[in-house]
Amino acid sequence: MAWETIIGMEIHVELATKSKIFCSCPTTFGAPPNSQTCPVCLGLPGTLPVLNDEVVKLAIKAGLALNCDINLSSKMDRKNYFYPDSPKAYQISQYDLPICSGGRIEIEVEGKKKEIRINRIHIEEDAGKLIHMVEEPHSLIDYNRVGVPLIEIVSEADMRSPQEAVEYVKTLKSILEYAGISDCRMEQGSLRCDANISIRRVGQEELNSKVEIKNMNSFKELIKAMEKEEKRQRELYSFGEGHKVIQETRRWDSGKGRTVSMRTKEDAHDYRYFPEPDIPTIHFNRNLVESIEKMIPELPEAKKKRFKDFYQLTDKEIEILIGDKPLAEFYERTVKVGAEPKIVANWILGDLLKLLKVEELQGSEIPIKEKDLVELLKLIETGEISGKIAKEVFETMFKTREEPKSIIAKRGLTQISGEEQLERYILEVLENNPQSVEDYHGGKKQAMGYLMGQIMKATQGQANPQLTKEILTMKLQNLK
Ligand SMILES: [Zn+2]
Repeated sequence: MAWETIIGMEIHVELATKSKIFCSCPTTFGAPPNSQTCPVCLGLPGTLPVLNDEVVKLAIKAGLALNCDINLSSKMDRKNYFYPDSPKAYQISQYDLPICSGGRIEIEVEGKKKEIRINRIHIEEDAGKLIHMVEEPHSLIDYNRVGVPLIEIVSEADMRSPQEAVEYVKTLKSILEYAGISDCRMEQGSLRCDANISIRRVGQEELNSKVEIKNMNSFKELIKAMEKEEKRQRELYSFGEGHKVIQETRRWDSGKGRTVSMRTKEDAHDYRYFPEPDIPTIHFNRNLVESIEKMIPELPEAKKKRFKDFYQLTDKEIEILIGDKPLAEFYERTVKVGAEPKIVANWILGDLLKLLKVEELQGSEIPIKEKDLVELLKLIETGEISGKIAKEVFETMFKTREEPKSIIAKRGLTQISGEEQLERYILEVLENNPQSVEDYHGGKKQAMGYLMGQIMKATQGQANPQLTKEILTMKLQNLK
């Protein structure tokens, strides 16, 4: 009997504001613990929160980018819970009147397009970060993150497989990054996702109990966690143990590669929501929405289409480039300063991406100047350096930020293009490899490749390959 997986996602995104949601503390990531706090975000008695209007603007922008309806009036609510990550013992969030409702985005899985509906986007404050020490009997807490502004994007349960859910998060992340709403760094926790999963028989109308999974910090973990949970539930149902699938929250333990029960899932009434008395209703007019709409830059879908039309890149190339915003921007800047679109794409997706991966700099700003890369490409084109040497120069450029010409001059890497000089190397190689010469004349044309390799070795890769091949062919003819 066939089973069907139902997935809905809740995504928390830290907004790219300079200060917190209700006070003027900075939001810089990685500051010393508890250095970015004040009486307001620590929830001390007698303080009052003031809503940062930049938060409202970014939330509207997110709503527009995700095709939502923007609600011209919405309100903040108090969500009560008692846990050390919240010094006030409540979180200021939005409950029944969120800032945006009813949106949608399109995803593509294995060539098939599908629309995923968004239920709502609401504004809320982040909680502190607890650090549970393995070797110590106590935990540590960092309140720097308390009061960092968040939006929570709640999808409808429209996804039918972990793959679709991952694609949804990827698409969403890309839109939010391009629109400048968040830096979406999953490894720093600025984009966090929770998945709600349930299983039912194909054809069944009502939904079975759903399980919420938390604590997945990368796409790799996200898919692994969802696949594991999907399998766990299917097995329980298949063996008639379906009653063991209960509404609960499970934490993904990446070390052990499994989900672990945390707590039975609370219902809304457990939080005793009520309107936040310290913050007035949020009102704005259409003009504000329209002015924000004008500021939304080109989003990934439109960018993909333009890259295809303008630069004639393959779908795969476009996907990798656009999936990494700094990389896509670097690509366009190099083309603008004169690089040939197809050639520079090969360098960026090949050598540059490899170096970025090794140095774990993916998603960061590119440490090479656009004009230096263009210069390097020119040096290859004019034959001043070989493609092989260019790779070496490129790596040095990446590490030292030096200009290609100065690297080449310093290390004497210019290509040998003088015929006389090349001839000397060629004759020497021919003399040292009589067997290969004989093989060549005996009809084994691959001996030519071996001889070319020897010449490159002797010149440390600096021989001009075109010219070398011409002279070598001529010399071999003469030896016959
Ligand atoms: Zn503060």
